[in-house]
Amino acid sequence: MRVATGRVGHAYLMEGRTGLLEAANAFAKALNCLNGGEVACDTCISCRVLDSGNHPDTFYVTATKTIAIGVEDVRHQVVAEMATRPFRYKYKVFIIDKAETMTPAAQNALLKTIEEPAPYGVFLLLTKELELMLETVLSRCVIIKVNENGQPGALQRETDEAHMALAQEVIENAHKLDILGALMLYKKFEPLKESKESAVALLDMLYERYGTLVRQTQAEYAFRATRAITQTKDLLSQNGNYQLAIEIMLLKIGAHIQ
Ligand SMILES: [Zn+2]
Repeated sequence: MRVATGRVGHAYLMEGRTGLLEAANAFAKALNCLNGGEVACDTCISCRVLDSGNHPDTFYVTATKTIAIGVEDVRHQVVAEMATRPFRYKYKVFIIDKAETMTPAAQNALLKTIEEPAPYGVFLLLTKELELMLETVLSRCVIIKVNENGQPGALQRETDEAHMALAQEVIENAHKLDILGALMLYKKFEPLKESKESAVALLDMLYERYGTLVRQTQAEYAFRATRAITQTKDLLSQNGNYQLAIEIMLLKIGAHIQ
């Protein structure tokens, strides 16, 4: 599996019917490979200990008390472990198989760690049932669809990374842009025009992020943004004009229109 070097996100959610653990192991291996390419070399000491199942910086989070991964499991196996630097390699990689079995409390405990990650922490959440995950967790993850061969869908991953990058740009800048800037920013939404599902997914991601900002900072622009996003989603669900809907949203976030 290929890892885009230098732009490793902190949390990935790998979704698929089969081959998830194999894909996650390949990802973890590439992350800590000492030969540092996009694909694991399979020969360095890090790659070899990972293959042997004894990698000191790769952690498999499991349920210990019930079949569900509970909040104590997350605290002991993830939160406590994240407090210390990797033993030997660059990243501490946490692989959470059957992530959908995490209780809501466990997902919330994990969320805090994902939101304030140490630079060495990487999370790979594996699930066959994406819809059972909390939206707040999903919105922080790059979603990778793993196909039947256990290979990640590269296109999907690039798309999701592009979404996250765009969401980040909007959150950081949209409230500061002048009218022309807001209209220019629309151009970056243009590629989503043909896929309502993608557009709505991006809006949901934005809504979650702005909602967090509202709770953390009470920023006025974040309030404006959550209202504007809700209105935009309504417009799109009524088959409103996509470009107009997004432009109005950006203008509202910038307080250029009410
Ligand atoms: Zn290697």
